[in-house]
Amino acid sequence: TIATEDLQRLFALIARDIAARRDHLCELDGAIGDGDHGLAMDAGCEAAAKAVAALDRAQTAPTAVFNAAAKAFLNTVGASSGPLYATAFMRAGAAVKDKSELSDDDFLRAFAALAQGIQERGKAEPGEKTMVDAWKPAADAALAAWASGTPLSQSLDMAEQAARQGCEATKDMTAAKGRSSRLGERVIGHIDPGAASAAIVIASIAKFVE
Ligand code: ADP
Ligand code: MG
Ligand code: MG
Repeated sequence: TIATEDLQRLFALIARDIAARRDHLCELDGAIGDGDHGLAMDAGCEAAAKAVAALDRAQTAPTAVFNAAAKAFLNTVGASSGPLYATAFMRAGAAVKDKSELSDDDFLRAFAALAQGIQERGKAEPGEKTMVDAWKPAADAALAAWASGTPLSQSLDMAEQAARQGCEATKDMTAAKGRSSRLGERVIGHIDPGAASAAIVIASIAKFVE
């Protein structure tokens, strides 16, 4: 099972992995956006990890961990990724409401809810060159693998692969959402920064459950 202290470790791991790619994410955003995506994700993940680390693990249920992460992320990030990830973490928390520890099935449902939260908050469909192009195929792959009896860690490996492919596929897309949607064909050939950071977060999650 996955307990509150494990989720504290997970948020720390995500923050560390995003921090390591901060400049790269800013470069990607510099090509087709305003160049702040690495800073936004780094600050948000760092704030979320800190807020979560400060919680008393004996007194805090998993749902409250996700809610604390959501609040910290929202309060820290002014960029569009702020409300998207805040909603995502809230949805993950809501998916495991009333659980004191998470089973593999609970964790997978939280992962899928997170992805769906991003999609509902931003109203982006796959193919619109956003982080949804990484999150949606990742959640779909994990859910399909899990439903056919694949263990959690391998199901999330499938998610990681799907996210990486989805991220890579944003190169060929024009953007229909977010600030790069104003640039038309000029964004073709560039990876979407939000899809790239999503692939990093998803890889961190897959590594965490190994
Ligand atoms: P901003 O564009 O406000 O500076 P960020 O740089 O933090 O915000 O994030 C940009 C990323 O946000 C994009 O690369 C894209 O993946 C994602 N994004 C923008 N709008 C949406 C949306 N409506 N739905 C999902 N993702 C979106
Ligand atoms: Mg930006
Ligand atoms: Mg910005």
